Amino acid sequence: MKISVIGTGYVGLVTGATLADIGHEVMCVDVDVQKVEQMKQAISPIYEPGLGDLMARNIAAKRLNFTSDPQSGFKEAEVIYIAVGTPENEDGSANLTYIEQAAKDIADHIENDIVIVVKSTVPVGTNHKIKQLVEAAVKGRARIAVVSNPEFLKEGSAIQDTFYGDRIVIGSDDEPSARIVEAINEPFGVPVFHTDTRSAEMIKYASNAFLATKISFINEISNICELVGANVENVAAGMGMDSRIGHQFLKAGIGYGGSCFPKDTEALIQIAGNVNYEFELLKGVVNVNRKQQLLLIEKLNACVDSLAGKRVAVLGLAFKPKTDDMRQAASLLIIEELLKQGAEVVTFDPVATEKAKALLNPSIVYANSLEAAVEGSDAALIVTEWDEIKNADLNVFAGMKRPLVIDGRNCFGLEMVKSHAIEYHSIGRPAIF
Ligand code: NAD
Repeated sequence: MKISVIGTGYVGLVTGATLADIGHEVMCVDVDVQKVEQMKQAISPIYEPGLGDLMARNIAAKRLNFTSDPQSGFKEAEVIYIAVGTPENEDGSANLTYIEQAAKDIADHIENDIVIVVKSTVPVGTNHKIKQLVEAAVKGRARIAVVSNPEFLKEGSAIQDTFYGDRIVIGSDDEPSARIVEAINEPFGVPVFHTDTRSAEMIKYASNAFLATKISFINEISNICELVGANVENVAAGMGMDSRIGHQFLKAGIGYGGSCFPKDTEALIQIAGNVNYEFELLKGVVNVNRKQQLLLIEKLNACVDSLAGKRVAVLGLAFKPKTDDMRQAASLLIIEELLKQGAEVVTFDPVATEKAKALLNPSIVYANSLEAAVEGSDAALIVTEWDEIKNADLNVFAGMKRPLVIDGRNCFGLEMVKSHAIEYHSIGRPAIF
């Protein structure tokens, strides 16, 4: 099929490249001219394992194209995917400016009947509004159908998730259009769940809110474990063996970040609030996460008299490993707080440094290895569990000015730490001195 994709971020570019890979003719449209020129050369503007190769293969096969011009971008499309951002407004609600602009662009440039597929995470009722908006603007020139197809990929394993996902949700009140979207996705071989549009929109928010709840739950358990002398890893392992609970998302740490969980939990609180429902549980989840993200600072302050003039190594900047995404990364809050308390900050991240530079205070030093970051430091804070950090030789920490390691991701086994001369504090586990 001839498919256009609006927005080539983490979702749109992966969608475009994977749809091309299963044989569709894909035109990706983005307003960012510089990014479009880069992508035409098969250079991925984001770090996502395997994406550069996938782009190169499909560009060479002439199935994957890029443009910043909506007119040529939509001219031949039979189906248009919307994958633009839906960031957070100040009040927590989803900002639909980019969605509305995308709908307007479609209306201004399509010449034939079209199926619009909404990949972006949007509040319940938005697909319906997009249909109304486009229909009003095309004034009967073309038939418009809108299908909700929320995205569940995870950054860092996005391509794998697309080819081997748990489910593809297709929400539509128009049966023939839902079948078209099912046929497009058929080569992926992923189970399809058909439902009505509003339920599909809600599935996305409910899924993210549930995962965020699991994270905040185990983080609260980890805080209690520290107070009662239990070890959260043993607790999570024992809990997870219950098939009703499962092992996933039971890893204690310094909370969730990224471009989805923080904004989607806030947006769902708003969605509920708009119909006069107070989502008390989810409000708790969000509050727990806020506190948890600064737990490393609390632990660090308990170990030092003052942070003024201390050199602190922050290990990991991205919100999670295998991505360069810095949106709502805990590192941003942690570094801001360290600077506020007068510390000197040196950081190391294997891939997110360039993106971080645009967001962080110019006084930050960017080391190009973990060893260089911790050398001469008074403390090391582990923020992201990159393999480069998890596989580090603990002797490197033992050689620090003060061998104080505060591990927000429980990267190291306690027995292994005990055989090294370091002071080690982690999450929900006994400290080692
Ligand atoms: P992103 O910010 O990385 O990318 C959005 C892209 O859209 C940008 O390249 C921007 O230039 C482009 N854009 C904006 N307006 C445009 C327009 N009118 N025409 C053409 N291009 C336009 O966003 P993302 O992380 O890919 O997320 C997209 C959506 O998918 C969001 O709703 C998000 O919640 C959802 N989602 C994201 C993830 C994730 O892991 N990132 C996972 C599942 C769902």
